[in-house]
Amino acid sequence: MKFLADPALGKLTKWLRMLGYDTIYYRGDIDRNFLRKAEREERVVLTRKKDMAGRSFSGRMFIISEDHVQNQIKEVKQKLSLKPDRGKLFSICLKCNKELEEISREEVKEYVPDYVFENYEDFRMCPQCRNVFWPGTHRDNMLDELKRVLNI
Ligand SMILES: [Zn+2]
Repeated sequence: MKFLADPALGKLTKWLRMLGYDTIYYRGDIDRNFLRKAEREERVVLTRKKDMAGRSFSGRMFIISEDHVQNQIKEVKQKLSLKPDRGKLFSICLKCNKELEEISREEVKEYVPDYVFENYEDFRMCPQCRNVFWPGTHRDNMLDELKRVLNI
């Protein structure tokens, strides 16, 4: 399942990407182009605008009623019956929404701090922003929060 999120859903976008879902964060006006993009790319529209329900739209739309991101992600998971794949957690760049590519330890040597290079084996790189990712403390904390909130 792929998503198109409206400008009010920046945090939710990040959470969906952490779970491995291709999610576009739309920063333009919520107009026909927004809905056309969702139709064209077969994305589920996520929006906080209640009046969107009346728009003519052939795709799937979900109106988020919760205010806080932890509740929003629960709402989406429950209502859309999402079954996050544990193997896909942290598989896409949280900033660019691009699938991360595996990169060998030797290739990352010049891009990461020495202690990271010494202590980790598994590295990935975003093909767009070229940031290198590894399973460090920051990611562990996010993972714990995801598991706690979603029971996954
Ligand atoms: Zn990136």
